[in-house]
Amino acid sequence: MEQGSQTIGGTLGGLIAASVRRWGDRPALVCGDQALTYAELGLRCRKAVAALADLGLARGSAIALLAPNGIDVMVATAAAMLAGIRTTPLSMLASDEDLAWLIADSEVDAVCVHASQADRLAKLASTASKRPRVLTFGAAEGQADLGQLVDAATPMPLGSSAQPSDIAVIGYTGGTTGRPKGVVHSHRSALAAVMMATAEWEWPEAPRVLAATPVSHAAGILAYPTWLRGGTFHLLPAFSPESFEAYVRAHRIGCTFLVPTMIYRLLDHARDHGLDLGPMETILYGAAPMAVDRLVEALNRFGPIFMQLYGQTEAPTCISYLARAQHQAARPDRLGSVGVPLAALDLALLDDEGRPAGDGEPGEICVRGAFVMEGYWKRPDETAEALRGGWLHTGDVGRFDADGYLHLVDRKKDLIISGGFNIYPREVEDVIGAIAGVRACAVVGVPDPLWGEAVTAAIVADPDAPDDAAIIAEVKARRGNAAAPKRIVRLAELPQTAIGKIDKKILRSIVATQ
Ligand code: AMP
Repeated sequence: MEQGSQTIGGTLGGLIAASVRRWGDRPALVCGDQALTYAELGLRCRKAVAALADLGLARGSAIALLAPNGIDVMVATAAAMLAGIRTTPLSMLASDEDLAWLIADSEVDAVCVHASQADRLAKLASTASKRPRVLTFGAAEGQADLGQLVDAATPMPLGSSAQPSDIAVIGYTGGTTGRPKGVVHSHRSALAAVMMATAEWEWPEAPRVLAATPVSHAAGILAYPTWLRGGTFHLLPAFSPESFEAYVRAHRIGCTFLVPTMIYRLLDHARDHGLDLGPMETILYGAAPMAVDRLVEALNRFGPIFMQLYGQTEAPTCISYLARAQHQAARPDRLGSVGVPLAALDLALLDDEGRPAGDGEPGEICVRGAFVMEGYWKRPDETAEALRGGWLHTGDVGRFDADGYLHLVDRKKDLIISGGFNIYPREVEDVIGAIAGVRACAVVGVPDPLWGEAVTAAIVADPDAPDDAAIIAEVKARRGNAAAPKRIVRLAELPQTAIGKIDKKILRSIVATQ
């Protein structure tokens, strides 16, 4: 807490306290018909800090959170930031096995869950050696209702007990190959990421920002730039083209973040039913590659409102971005890039020996800067490997074009080695994805006695799409024989992760059995 003349800044808690003081009567947080002004948010958080303290949860404690987008989960997170309690957001789509593992690995003292998840989580939490207690958002039999405890609590003074070096969040990533890793961000690194986003992205004054993806993923961090600028952070509990359009129009949303699959769904919906996004100024998108032809379609339909982010949990929220003005439908080459690096970081393309790649040559994207994670939770070897030489090795391979735009070649670990040739799936996906009648495409390597790995393309295609031989011939013509798929597998849909990225681990097992 702030004592006498001392203000603890340099933390996400300090940012929340400063925003509450600055913007008192403005609306801060809205979900449907529930709304809190900054003053009300401040009061609710101060009570939540007190309620958590009564439960023995204070600076140095840890909580996990599992709930759909809603005011209560945002308040609990903000209170944790003020109190110096570390947080681990969990995905509503995670399996029981994964949740049990994450709760045990993160060593939390409590899990705060939506009432509908109480029984499930109580069982899972009881298997963790630390036996975290379960707190619910809403009444659930046999469990403590955090909302009620907050209602009854005597508010603490407004201020942050967190120190800049305290852990703010451990976010899990990389679950598509092996167990996920906990990415540790201190208040210092998380605040740096927030400040970089606030300074370098194109924000309107007092922005009205909608979290349409789960706040447990990247959308949550958007609350901080919004609050710093006196804007309003809106929460959409569940995305569909209809719910999104209705919310955006009703609340005159000016800015949102979407993953490419959501933009594709909006475009398909717009084609069949029309879609009016009202005064939307900026659609931030990223987290996965976006097909260039669909981006052109989106620009033509919705106008020059798109801004792309490229980043990762270890280096949030973005490493590089493609600004709105750089989204020119007439420059598809540029639209395929991830833009230019932020000014506040160092970026180098390095080879396996840590040497810089030659001009125009690909190399692993490595970054340095205050926003880089502190390390992986309880994984010293993987931390040392990822941060070797003082650079965060992102695992993404990229190259710069002559104008200084960064292009992602692919994930290093998705590289397919077939018949001794190195093939990046994305090179093949871009060719097949552009064929008329192909709606989605993902390429993986499947173990093969002859080739080592066989390039295998899974596609979602319309009935009138070209046959397999024609698709393979197109890849041969554009990318050469080695890159040509040995097999095409047609699926009704591609498996996706919780946030909407194609899940290549599951895809590999699907195509292996087809
Ligand atoms: P995560 O840490 O789960 O958010 O995943 C980060 C990874 O998603 C990055 O390392 C990239 O491989 C991929 N990614 C993020 N943003 C983009 C983007 N704009 N275009 C293509 N891939 C992206």
